[in-house]
Amino acid sequence: MRRKLAAGNWKMNGSIPGLDMIGKLKLKHPECPCDVLICPPAPLLAPALNNTAGSPVQIGAQNCHAEEKGAYTGEHSAAMIAEVGATYVIVGHSERRAAYGETDAQVAAKAQAAQAAGLTAIVCIGESLEQREAGEALDVIKTQLKGSVPEGSAGKTLVVAYEPIWAIGTGKIPSMEQIADVHALMRTELRARFGEDADSMRLLYGGSVKPNNAANIFALGDVDGALVGGASLTEEDFSPIIEALAAS
Ligand code: PEP
Repeated sequence: MRRKLAAGNWKMNGSIPGLDMIGKLKLKHPECPCDVLICPPAPLLAPALNNTAGSPVQIGAQNCHAEEKGAYTGEHSAAMIAEVGATYVIVGHSERRAAYGETDAQVAAKAQAAQAAGLTAIVCIGESLEQREAGEALDVIKTQLKGSVPEGSAGKTLVVAYEPIWAIGTGKIPSMEQIADVHALMRTELRARFGEDADSMRLLYGGSVKPNNAANIFALGDVDGALVGGASLTEEDFSPIIEALAAS
């Protein structure tokens, strides 16, 4: 049985006062049957963790470097993220792939470093609008999944987030059939590679998940939760998504 996951990616948003939403989530969902995760910007990891005592909310980072240490100004290692008490890290978000040219191989190296440090890697993949319109979405997903998920991954150390680039921050989402097709493909591909371990790997959908569309998305087979951007910034928006997941 896979434990569902509602993960919030704050991107470069948030502030120390804004962390009080973690306390509000704690009060609203004291015994949540799902995992709840907030991924704030790196400088807010430690202060965010100070808000999670006695709470079902876990904290994760949005990126890590593949190396353990060294002359990489501005970067942080997976071990550093683990040392402050965070438990997850997002790797390969499409904004990083686009802005920093991260390749599948680099994403796999980051995921491997995260897993070696004891973190769960949330590996993001997803097609562009041009690829979707050209009928290439499933091939793109297959290639990215193969190249971005490292060998040795297991249910405890790997989550895959399907995030069509054209759905991120746009208010547009794929049809339910398109989401279901991609998730079924991901499960099949992961099974072919990892055998029955793949059955414990969680597959998230991400891209304009909101309180008004969450329940329909969570009703789909092989959707084990969501990676949520804008709607994870406030308790008012994130709570109904957590509730829809818990009810699914
Ligand atoms: C994201 O950034 O991963 C994301 C899914 O953003 P949004 O929910 O705002 O589309």
